[in-house]
Amino acid sequence: MLFAGDADENAFAINKRLSATCGYEAAILIGYTLARRVFRYYGRNWVSVLAFIIAHESGHIRQFQAARPPKGVKAELHADFLGGWTLARITRGTWAAEALSAVFNEIQSTGAGVTGTPTYHGTATQRLTAVKAGYELALSGAGNADSAFGRGLTHVGL
Ligand SMILES: [Zn+2]
Repeated sequence: MLFAGDADENAFAINKRLSATCGYEAAILIGYTLARRVFRYYGRNWVSVLAFIIAHESGHIRQFQAARPPKGVKAELHADFLGGWTLARITRGTWAAEALSAVFNEIQSTGAGVTGTPTYHGTATQRLTAVKAGYELALSGAGNADSAFGRGLTHVGL
């Protein structure tokens, strides 16, 4: 869901219904300002960058469902791992090099945040390593979403 307003330069996964009549128990919110910036900055690769953002947030939704979900920076790196895994599964590894490069550029330029804050996502190197590890796991053909979730936990040291 696209939203405008406070913090709309960001994306979020939320673990609650948006309204009493909403049939979904979790949602991904993509900020309007974020979507517009990605569209303007990445040219024809904007969809790939947005797809990664959605895949990262869908990793958080999967974490909400876990008995012992990762927290803090480990949750972010785990979501990056699952994001890489998801995109490799969707594209079957056919992503153009320039599309992957755009995703890595986005992670490097916006990913880290300030150490010690709730929005800290890890260093750019940690994030890229997590995305690549998830991506390569999916390309290896091993396992399913549940095993990828567990491999991602191992990747972040849990
Ligand atoms: Zn995140």
